[in-house]
Amino acid sequence: MSFRLFLRVVCYSLLLQTIFLPLQAQNRKCETIGLQKWMTDSNLKLKTHYQEIDSLIQQSLNSQKSTSIVTPVLIIPVIVHVLYHNIAENISNEQIKSQIDVLNEDYTAINSTIIDVPSVWQNLINDSKIRFQLAKQDPLGNFSDGITRTLTSKVEFAYNDTSIFFDSAGGKNAWPDSSYLNIWVCSLKDNVLGFAALPGTSPFRDGIVIINSAFGRIGLLKKPYNLGRTTTHEIGHWLSMRHIWGDDNGACNPDPAQGDGIADTPDQGDSHFRCPGFPSLDNCSTVSPGVMYMNYMDYTDDKCMMFFTVDQTKKMYTTLDVARSSIKNSNGKISLNSINKELSIDSILSPVTLAGNRCFIPIIRLANEGNIPLSNIPVRYSINSGIEKTYTCLDTIAPHSNLTIQLPSISGIFGENLFEVRIAITDSNSVNNYASSSFKLNSTSIANCENSGIEIFPNPLIGGNSINVKTKFSESQKSSLRLFNSVGQLIFEKVQNINPGDTFTISLIGMSAGVYIFQFDGNVNTESVKFIYLPQ
Ligand SMILES: [Zn+2]
Repeated sequence: MSFRLFLRVVCYSLLLQTIFLPLQAQNRKCETIGLQKWMTDSNLKLKTHYQEIDSLIQQSLNSQKSTSIVTPVLIIPVIVHVLYHNIAENISNEQIKSQIDVLNEDYTAINSTIIDVPSVWQNLINDSKIRFQLAKQDPLGNFSDGITRTLTSKVEFAYNDTSIFFDSAGGKNAWPDSSYLNIWVCSLKDNVLGFAALPGTSPFRDGIVIINSAFGRIGLLKKPYNLGRTTTHEIGHWLSMRHIWGDDNGACNPDPAQGDGIADTPDQGDSHFRCPGFPSLDNCSTVSPGVMYMNYMDYTDDKCMMFFTVDQTKKMYTTLDVARSSIKNSNGKISLNSINKELSIDSILSPVTLAGNRCFIPIIRLANEGNIPLSNIPVRYSINSGIEKTYTCLDTIAPHSNLTIQLPSISGIFGENLFEVRIAITDSNSVNNYASSSFKLNSTSIANCENSGIEIFPNPLIGGNSINVKTKFSESQKSSLRLFNSVGQLIFEKVQNINPGDTFTISLIGMSAGVYIFQFDGNVNTESVKFIYLPQ
């Protein structure tokens, strides 16, 4: 090859790399083990300290083997410290709550992908009995929503940069690790997604650190780490899990005490990336079913991480019980609210950033923070400040619990939309009875909402002297049927029991041409529809 041709080949291949490299997602990068090595390599005493704690956990696990233990659910109060350098990094409450949802699903083993675990390992799926809750009290006993927000001058942090953990250095001081799980959410250097402190770490840095683009499952997230599994993985480390391949540079360790130290995970040489097909074999597991790449402690993409095994969940629970026991008695999880009636819109789960169809079903979560059960809750909602719909939630929400509800469908317009929702009740704090979300709709369809509760036909009505109303609500209900003119004057009202699918007519005799509004006001649904009347 001539030198000129050689140069051309080199130039082309560099160009191709430049074009195609950005399309290839970064491999998962967790720095828990890197950090551990960085801290203990020059500190033998510290290394021994961590080993002693691991032995304690192991001893406790061994002593459980012969006895059957009833395991109560343990709740971990979580404090999320958001460190932001620009507005986009100051992630929303919804994004943070979505991460708590992911953790509770993953640690309960009720995540939607659990059915995709290969059948050979289905019997290893286990509820860890560990749950997560945003802190309700700060260390001084004041009210907390479980989130701190700190504007930082630092653009990004390296995994071994301790300034993350100090107010004075552009970070945020940890809350006592004896009572809280600290999660710092910030921008991280060098494509690191997150890292965790193992049990026994100094309180000032005890917790986990997650990059803001991989925290939660709604908001500004980067694929393929957009389903909240980075946090599931790092909390695994915080509860003493090692990586499933044992961090032993590809070595095979058939002895379950070696490698990842877990007996019911297969021996695995090294980390697995992306989404390998099942079975996936390697140098340590050469025959089917191969390696357990869908375990939360491997390095696959968020959508392919699916479960912890029985032995993993047992070790994590024991870690919490033995090495992080004080957290069980934390006041952080106890609500200061001793008021009777307090209901709030906890979050809008959908639509948040995007709706694919012009007609969509809003999903919201209500939180009963009071001491009495609540039911028959009227929820009013609208798009772009248009006519409000009302849906009455007939379910009962127990004190100090949440309820997720789907509202009857509503239509948006192509482009930017504003969804607003409020609960029409009188309670101790009215500020949190309202919530809104701005979202984009990318469907150009102009079809009406098929699931809309009432249909008026013909519309416009040209000639004739009565109009037909068809109801499509799913519940029978006692309803006030009202007709208003275009300036809001009530022209007609009657009360009637309406069953799903009923059609009835409304007389328009003597009425002049114009726009009218028909309102259906039932004890479950309220909806209004405009129509045009042109008598001949
Ligand atoms: Zn890791």
